[in-house]
Amino acid sequence: MSGVPQSNPQKTFYLETFGCQMNVHDSEKVVGTLLQEGYLQVNTVEEADLVLYNTCSIRDKAEQKVFNRLSDYKKYKKQGKTFGVLGCVAQQEGEKIFERAPYVSLVAGSASYRNLPSMLRQLEAAQLENAQQEKVRLESAILEAGKSGSRKPEAESLVRITGLDDRETDKCFETEFTSRTNPHRGYITIIEGCDKFCAYCVVPYTRGKERSRTSASVLDEARQLVDLGYTEIQLLGQNVNSYRDPGGNKTFAELLMALGSVTGIRRVRFTTSHPRDFGRDIVEAIDAVPTLCDHVHLPVQSGSTRVLDAMQRLYTRDEYLERISWIQAARRDISLTSDLIVGFPGETERELEETLSLMDLVGYDSVFTFKYSPRPNTPALGLEDAIPDEEKARRLAVVNDKQKVIGVARNRRHIGQVLEVMVEAKNTARGQWVGRTSQIKVMNFTVPAGVELTTGSYVPVLVTGSFPNSLMGEMAISSGAKALD
Ligand code: SAM
Ligand code: SF4
Repeated sequence: MSGVPQSNPQKTFYLETFGCQMNVHDSEKVVGTLLQEGYLQVNTVEEADLVLYNTCSIRDKAEQKVFNRLSDYKKYKKQGKTFGVLGCVAQQEGEKIFERAPYVSLVAGSASYRNLPSMLRQLEAAQLENAQQEKVRLESAILEAGKSGSRKPEAESLVRITGLDDRETDKCFETEFTSRTNPHRGYITIIEGCDKFCAYCVVPYTRGKERSRTSASVLDEARQLVDLGYTEIQLLGQNVNSYRDPGGNKTFAELLMALGSVTGIRRVRFTTSHPRDFGRDIVEAIDAVPTLCDHVHLPVQSGSTRVLDAMQRLYTRDEYLERISWIQAARRDISLTSDLIVGFPGETERELEETLSLMDLVGYDSVFTFKYSPRPNTPALGLEDAIPDEEKARRLAVVNDKQKVIGVARNRRHIGQVLEVMVEAKNTARGQWVGRTSQIKVMNFTVPAGVELTTGSYVPVLVTGSFPNSLMGEMAISSGAKALD
């Protein structure tokens, strides 16, 4: 009804996240920012005015998934929804996304998220102006079409906003609003970007130069998390141990110790560590500070020095194993996990065997395994990717089978131990609770009849069984629902 003021309905958004933990945490910042801007988060594309995809481009399939999803939903563009692509695919493909998916209006890399409110306002203003111009254009075109008897023209929308030029900024650390989705583990980014340029990896191109956040600001965020009720924090970065305090105050190991001593913090995790920058002082810190979790994720990628050299990892098999020996010499039983790539250009059967023998030597608690995927802009793109996909798949299966055997043996050592578990959920169907040990192992466990636990609490659990990727147990207190705190 014209002339009657309309109440402004609340704008809604839907956000889907692809990829790594850093992307998940970036999404927490995006959600926090949008809620602060008055948007309401909804669970389906159908309900949303604004549809955002926070993307990953580390491997080809991850990126393809995003484009598939976009094409699934392009029909909604006609309903006036706005589509935006965020994250690594946005940074990598840039304005090319508009060519591949013309119904997308916003493309922004991770370093630009703090500018989202202004980008969205710009977008809205441009859309409004565009709609008005379009109305005038359509009206006159219809008039013309009526005169000449030709078909009515279709409306088109070409409003486009980009946020792609911020990859050097360190302002990305201080997001005013973060909507934390994990109720018990608070994520803190301590370092962004990467300067290592491994031959296969897009990260230096999508996330930009390596930049660390001041230790004072990291400690502040940790204290804020304690105030919000968190007892576990996880430090995030492509290479957390390449951390260089801009204030020059703390090494990474010193930062770990300082965080582990913050009152109220019970567990400190950190991922990922790069072998090249991994020093003994990190192991000493874990030994000295009980709140630092007994887990190190140290991706090796390959067990062959020749392949490591071709990958430009800048360490040899022996240097990697030396770091493992420091970790294994710790007083605490530190679990070891890794990333492995199979089928890197030129990898021979013998070199794959070297990876398998390294897995045996280390005895990983678990590994993430990947088939090599050629990535745009990376140096390895110049190498012939001569290993067919079926062969990469075979090698992946060989590595996974090997890890299954190692994982079972590694988990078996816990049988009979009482481990502290942070309770994460109840599996009502199975009559079990689920939590994680300090070593980040999943524990499914039972409690005495009538006992109810609260998620986020810590309980002692006696390990009674083990599987390749999890443990089984029973709560180690016979009387009452007594948790450790
Ligand atoms: N910065 C960490 C390091 O260097 O150890 C790794 C971070 S990267 C985001 C996560 C993992 O993705 C890598 O460890 C690697 O195993 C895998 N990855 C990266 N690029 C890849 C590619 N082109 N093909 C297959 N796997 C890849
Ligand atoms: Fe990628 Fe290598 Fe940097 Fe890790 S260290 S993010 S694998 S370039």
